[in-house]
Amino acid sequence: MNVYKAVLLDLDGVVWTRYGAIDKSPDATHLFKENGIKVFYLTNNSHRSQQETFDKLCKIYLTNQDVFYPAGNEIMPGTGSYLSCITMPHEILNDKIVVCGKPNVLISEHLKKMFALEKTEVVMVGDNLETDVKLGINCGYRSVLVETGVHSRADVEKLKIKPSKIFKSLYDMACNVNNEREQVNY
Ligand SMILES: [Mg+2]
Repeated sequence: MNVYKAVLLDLDGVVWTRYGAIDKSPDATHLFKENGIKVFYLTNNSHRSQQETFDKLCKIYLTNQDVFYPAGNEIMPGTGSYLSCITMPHEILNDKIVVCGKPNVLISEHLKKMFALEKTEVVMVGDNLETDVKLGINCGYRSVLVETGVHSRADVEKLKIKPSKIFKSLYDMACNVNNEREQVNY
C-alpha cells in the first residue's frame, strides 16, 4: 500500500481547542507539507456562529451530529445535542432530514472530484470516533484517532469503531510519516 498523499484534519481536538493550538500541532502540519503530503481541514464546528447554526437547524439542513466537542479540559455539548430536539418531531412526521457534515461521504466525493485522490492515498485524522473515524471508514480511507480531544483508545472497544491507527497527538502522527513510508501495511 502506498504511503498516504493527503491528510484530512479535523480541527477541534486535533489542531486546536477553544483556548489555542494543541501542543506542536503547527509543527505537525509543517512536517506533513515538508514530506509532500497535502493537508486539508475538515471540521464540523459550527459553534462559532450559533445564530447560523440555529438558522440551519430551522431549515433542517444540519452541519453535523457531534454530540460533544472538546473545550480545553472540558467536554461541551455540540450541535448534535440540539439536533435531537429538532429531528424527533420531524422523524415522527416522516420529514426528510439532511445532515451534510461528517460522517456523510458527500464531503469526500467533493474532494475526490477536485483533487483526484485515490482512497488508499487519504487518511482521515480526528479526535472523534463517531464522526471523524467513521467518515474515514465510510469513505474507504484509512483513519487515525488522535487522543487530544473527545475520544481515546479506551473508547474504541466501547463504541466498536476501529481506526486504522491511534496516536497520542497529531504531532506524533506527523513524526511517523517516514516510518509509514517504510511499512507495507498501515
Ligand atoms: Mg474534533
